[in-house]
Amino acid sequence: MFLTPAHGGTAQCALLGISAPIERLSLTKTFEQLGLPATLLAGLEKAGFATPTKIQAEAIPPQMAGRDILGIAQTGSGKTAAFGLPILSELMKMQGKARPMSARALILVPTRELAVQIDEALRSFAGSMRLSTVLVLGGMSRHAQVQKLARGVDICIATPGRLMDLVDDKKLWLNETRFLVLDEADRMLDMGFIGPVKAIAAKIGSHRRTALFSATMAPEVAKLAEGLLKDPVRVEASPPATTVAVIDQRVILSGSKAKRGELNTLLADPALEKVIVFSRTKHGADRVAKNLAIDGHEAAAIHGNKSQNARQAALKGFANGNVRILVATDIAARGIDVPGITHVINYELPDDPENYVHRIGRTGRNGASGSAITLVDGTERGKLRDVERLIRRTLPTSGTLPGGEAASITAPTAQPRHKPKTGKPRWNKGQKEAGKARRGNGDGAPPRADNRPPRGPKTEGRPQRDSRPQREGRPQRDSRPARGNRRAVATA
Ligand code: AMP
Repeated sequence: MFLTPAHGGTAQCALLGISAPIERLSLTKTFEQLGLPATLLAGLEKAGFATPTKIQAEAIPPQMAGRDILGIAQTGSGKTAAFGLPILSELMKMQGKARPMSARALILVPTRELAVQIDEALRSFAGSMRLSTVLVLGGMSRHAQVQKLARGVDICIATPGRLMDLVDDKKLWLNETRFLVLDEADRMLDMGFIGPVKAIAAKIGSHRRTALFSATMAPEVAKLAEGLLKDPVRVEASPPATTVAVIDQRVILSGSKAKRGELNTLLADPALEKVIVFSRTKHGADRVAKNLAIDGHEAAAIHGNKSQNARQAALKGFANGNVRILVATDIAARGIDVPGITHVINYELPDDPENYVHRIGRTGRNGASGSAITLVDGTERGKLRDVERLIRRTLPTSGTLPGGEAASITAPTAQPRHKPKTGKPRWNKGQKEAGKARRGNGDGAPPRADNRPPRGPKTEGRPQRDSRPQREGRPQRDSRPARGNRRAVATA
């Protein structure tokens, strides 16, 4: 038995403010010792997984014993195998095929990229096992998803909006689902998916085993966990919001106009083998990619205005080494796991300092070394201070700012650069994109199929219909009073 509480008991989970007991597990050293079947062990060997990561060693045994899991883990910790292997192991024990229009396991994720990654990982672990999976994602053909679901699947990997859409349309029934995973729960909440997530869990019912993973344990995540998990075992990969010690971080002060030349100088060094360049805005990412191409570099860009196919193609080219440089925005890059990234270059600092931590976490994975270089112009000193405050480190700095920009160092950076004319605040584009992330759009929203001009500022940022969370608390259409009677009901 692997559930071995150290100190002979359990502790209260004070961080979460919930009464889930924390069980400290004795760590086992090999995948065999975790009790996984031989087929999966062969799949893991083929995938090159020799020993379990901390989160795998801690999370797999309790799930194999039927327990719910609350995992604090970021992309890069090995959490996919941590929740995927116990599910695959249980699926192997099940007889026959999944019933039509049902899924035996459901994995909810915030973004399409993450869904694709999880699907690929699970297939590689499954090895010779017969496994049917479907990706149910907004912005992609609904018809193909419905057809696959109609036959019944072992595992459905989905974004909450599209899944709820298909459930409402009676294309998928959740009463056969036995395993539910909420991956990157904090981001799903940030993106406004709380309504669909809760509705989906309620439709599955209580006969499920649930695993919830989140990079941070904000109070809203803890509240969600409290509502959805039964007596969970809490496991933790590494403390969130800390920068990995192996990543070498430095800052180069550079005038905003000099950044292009600075980037070229950096890229002249062949040590920068696989480089991700972060830009604050979609427009900025396009501009940087275009300039890189003009300056003779192989580069691809991914951001929310690119089609899903273009994003996948760019990622593939970068992952397999055909393209040396990937230019990305924060939202598009979230959750991307491309092994072997040697350098992260922040062409511009993010508006939200936590994104700095997410960005540089793309390198230095699995014990490899990595380097993060940030180009900072005169307008970004305030943001740099915010980052340094968050990571509790002063970053080594080189370079100089030209006269005009050096003067702006002392200027308060939190103020808008232009005075709003209308009395309404004027947000810059980066803030707009960050706002979209919070509201659940921008991530992979495909260009409009009918070539109409982009939506105006009001509707820009609104999620695709199928990925929009349902309004909570609104009665179903047929239980709402007819139009003419509404006032009477309201005043009754
Ligand atoms: P994840 O956090 O699940 O996205 O995994 C991050 C990366 O670590 C992926 O590239 C995995 O292939 C890799 N990985 C996960 N677990 C292991 C393991 N036990 N041994 C080697 N690589 C692993």
